[in-house]
Amino acid sequence: MTDGARVATRPGVASREAATHCPYCALQCGMTLRETGGRVEVLPRQFPTNRGGLCQKGWTAAELLDHPERLTTPLVRDPATDEQRPASWAEALDRIAAGIRTVQTGHGRDAVAVFGGGGLTNEKAYALGKFARVALRTRHIDYNGRWCMSSAAAAGIRAFGVDRGLPFPLADLGRAETLLLVGANPAETMPPLLRHLADQRERGGRLIVIDPRVTATARQADLHLQPLPGTDLAVANALLHIALTEGWLDRDYVADRTTGFDAVRRTVAGYWPAEVERLSGVPMADLEATARALGTAGSAIILTARGAEQHAKGVDTVTAFVNLALALGLPGRPGSGYGCLTGQGNGQGGREHGQKADQLPGYRKIDDPAAREHVAGVWGVPADDLPGPGVPAYRLLDSLGTPDGPRALLVFGSNPVVSAPRAARIESRLRDLDLLVVADFLRSETAALADVVLPVAQWAEEDGTMTNLEGRVLRRRALREPPPGVRTDLAVLADLAARLDAPVDFPSEPRTVFTELRRASAGGPADYAGVTWERIDAETGVFWPCPDPDGPDTPRLFADRFPTPDGRARFHPVTHRPAAEEVCAEYPLHFTTGRVLAQYQSGTQTRRVSALRRAAPDAFVELHPDLAARLGIDDGEPVRVVSRRGELRAPARVSTTIRPDTVFAPFHWAGAARANSVTNDAVDPVSGMPEFKICAVRVERAEP
Ligand code: SF4
Repeated sequence: MTDGARVATRPGVASREAATHCPYCALQCGMTLRETGGRVEVLPRQFPTNRGGLCQKGWTAAELLDHPERLTTPLVRDPATDEQRPASWAEALDRIAAGIRTVQTGHGRDAVAVFGGGGLTNEKAYALGKFARVALRTRHIDYNGRWCMSSAAAAGIRAFGVDRGLPFPLADLGRAETLLLVGANPAETMPPLLRHLADQRERGGRLIVIDPRVTATARQADLHLQPLPGTDLAVANALLHIALTEGWLDRDYVADRTTGFDAVRRTVAGYWPAEVERLSGVPMADLEATARALGTAGSAIILTARGAEQHAKGVDTVTAFVNLALALGLPGRPGSGYGCLTGQGNGQGGREHGQKADQLPGYRKIDDPAAREHVAGVWGVPADDLPGPGVPAYRLLDSLGTPDGPRALLVFGSNPVVSAPRAARIESRLRDLDLLVVADFLRSETAALADVVLPVAQWAEEDGTMTNLEGRVLRRRALREPPPGVRTDLAVLADLAARLDAPVDFPSEPRTVFTELRRASAGGPADYAGVTWERIDAETGVFWPCPDPDGPDTPRLFADRFPTPDGRARFHPVTHRPAAEEVCAEYPLHFTTGRVLAQYQSGTQTRRVSALRRAAPDAFVELHPDLAARLGIDDGEPVRVVSRRGELRAPARVSTTIRPDTVFAPFHWAGAARANSVTNDAVDPVSGMPEFKICAVRVERAEP
């Protein structure tokens, strides 16, 4: 029986249950899986984040367990036909090991790269980082979390000295008198979170949303600011300008708990509300009302998400909101603070344990000699044998198959053919590789290009841990064994490491891997040393840092000090700059991307779930009625959105929910409807996060 599953018996019918969490987003809603007579049903489970709620994605998650398109045998590309064909595990793994050896012998260790995902468990993210550094000894590893949270992570580290998405439990939202959501649409991305917003409203709280679209969340707000995409930073600086002018600065907090405020004061002095109104389109009165709601509230929380982050100036944009929060004395105060809403299921844990290019487990830096010594000691290898930092995801993918780039790539839990910016270019880079390996449980668009596809277990078939958007470490519990022919990612890594004559063993049991992870993370910023599976069970999850199994965990950070050398948070002055690509006569419209309620990320999973396909069958292009009239486009008519990099085709959805100068498309679809054929590959210079949220396009009627 799998760890954690409980077998019960109904008269005549064998039944088993597992108390686990949803496979999708970072809310990690509690759910119980019940299998009766081979049929698996999802039951919502009370957990502090979802309070018994699930969205449609969670309700339908079990459909993929027995999906007809489920991969249950390895596939290898036949050189004679150039087609993928079924193969044995031995053949597939031999081919991978031989391919890696050939590439590394001819081109060096860094000629092999690894690409991970923010949905992998902590154990897998950790094992993947170790595999890259110890078995492959390549510096080239990064992951798709670079697309999602990396700008907020970088801004958090430079301001607070640590990156934990929410430095407080989600339930604190209900206690905030004023809640400001920036570029976040939880009503569609994580609906059960709205229960916390309802709490806040019931207590008389105000909700303010900043978003270029009238989203389902914005419709619930007391005040909605609808800026031009790419101007959030200026809006934040204007809010701070007003707060200072009105005398809402928390002087004692700034003096006692922060450094660097004077430079920020000088910078925001130039952000006159009237000028920011001209730049962003947000009326001065709304800027003033927002600043007042934040500056005069007894408690206030500012949350940012992808709308603020996915820009070539994403780190600075988040920093502008962090500056605002610090000036008002919010971080570390009960019911107040700044936080980032993490997106992917293990977006938080996935960025803590070594699958980032510059990082070792425990959120340690790979170029820190003490960190290298510690982690190498846990791994049983000399520190000098560990490679140095690699490059962020887009740079890595864009270098594949080029004279100076890797010639082989192993992909775990990611689908960059759909999710990468400027995706056609990345698709072509993947085709140029000598060896592409994809481990997945469905044949994603990236798997379809692979030389070897490995069928791996999915969430209800393996144990492990996830770390949710609050920094709370949770148990993922298996309901059943994987189907015949399917192996876990950990087993794949262990087998490959052995075939590559890795100097140390790679355990394949998740509990053993987690025990090793705890030791590797000990003493690091994300310290899991005191987190045990038993403790997670007993305490409804454990918040990191938790250095001591017998000591407390840390639901709230920053109460007394920040984890910086002097214990103070750091202001950084930031200034507005235009998007990397501005509109022009040929491309006169702004293009922005996002998600819809019934689909998730690249859609590999949710596009195959029947109820979700019915709810959101196809992509669309959202256009304002004024723009549609000017272009002569009717609702439902096929349109082309064209940028300098490519185009997408989808039906028009004419709606007043979008600005007349901006068009929107969701990014969950592939092929002609792939939004990332259009997006810009400009990246933030600090975080490496791409500018998914704005580029210049034109829109045309397309032939049906
Ligand atoms: S909100 Fe997120 S975690 Fe909860 S059910 Fe939906 S997708 Fe799953």
